[in-house]
Amino acid sequence: MGINVLILGSGSALPTVNSHQSAQIVEVNNHPFLIDCGEGTQVELRRNKVRIQQINHIFISHLHGDHFFGLVGLMSTMHLLGRDKDIHIHGPKGLADIVLMQFKIVASYLSFKMHFHEINEASKVLFEDKAVKISALPLAHRIPTFGFLVEEKVAYRKLIVKAIEKYHIPKHARRAIVEGKDYTTIDGKLIPNKELTKDPLPPKKYAYCSDTAFSEKLIDDLPALDLLYHEATFLEEDKERAKQTFHSTAKDAATVALKTNAKKLILGHYSNRYKKKDKFLEEARTVFKETYHAEEGETFSL
Ligand SMILES: [Zn+2]
Ligand SMILES: [Zn+2]
Repeated sequence: MGINVLILGSGSALPTVNSHQSAQIVEVNNHPFLIDCGEGTQVELRRNKVRIQQINHIFISHLHGDHFFGLVGLMSTMHLLGRDKDIHIHGPKGLADIVLMQFKIVASYLSFKMHFHEINEASKVLFEDKAVKISALPLAHRIPTFGFLVEEKVAYRKLIVKAIEKYHIPKHARRAIVEGKDYTTIDGKLIPNKELTKDPLPPKKYAYCSDTAFSEKLIDDLPALDLLYHEATFLEEDKERAKQTFHSTAKDAATVALKTNAKKLILGHYSNRYKKKDKFLEEARTVFKETYHAEEGETFSL
């Protein structure tokens, strides 16, 4: 339970040996959702042992190449590995045309169906089941761009380990218990849920915000988050460049975290012009102390 955010890539446009283009796996209730799919994402999925055929929904923030150039390759690999399950791809207008064209021109057909869902407005709910809701956030970039808000819907009750051991409750029965059900032992004795569980923690919230200029509208739309990923392409010394290119500085990202009462901020999408990453943390922490690098290969568990 909870939300796990695995960073596959947090670099900006120019990939290097150590920094990959944008991609993250957000796992909720054992379902992996892929957010952005820059070049090389499928290699990072393998490196991090993500079961790629378990991915059923992909969310693309915008159509700059560093956020989706890996998509055609990933679809092709899923086909080669024998996928027959449909896949749902959410992204701005134009994404379907680009991807379908690639397969059409070489008359290559996939063993599964791709469903494209166009994102055209912020706050639209893109995916919802009983465990999680994923909706679009308004970002301010040079082309239509959306962030993603991932909200856990159910707060599962917490198991009391001693009680679970006492009644020898098997693993497969625990799911119903954390959902609030009572338990009946093999010899027919009913154990009320309150003997087995404690009250849950509040449901978790995570937001992915890349790429964007500093945006008051985004601040208005963000709830208090457990974790915020916000791009920081530049440092304050290059504020003008950030404005021209509709990107943020580390201080901008920290200001968003501060103003929205986030618990923790992770930064990425650093421009390759900077040789030392630590300057981003130094700058952001002057505004918002709980700031960290979105390090490739790292998982943030909420
Ligand atoms: Zn980018
Ligand atoms: Zn961009």
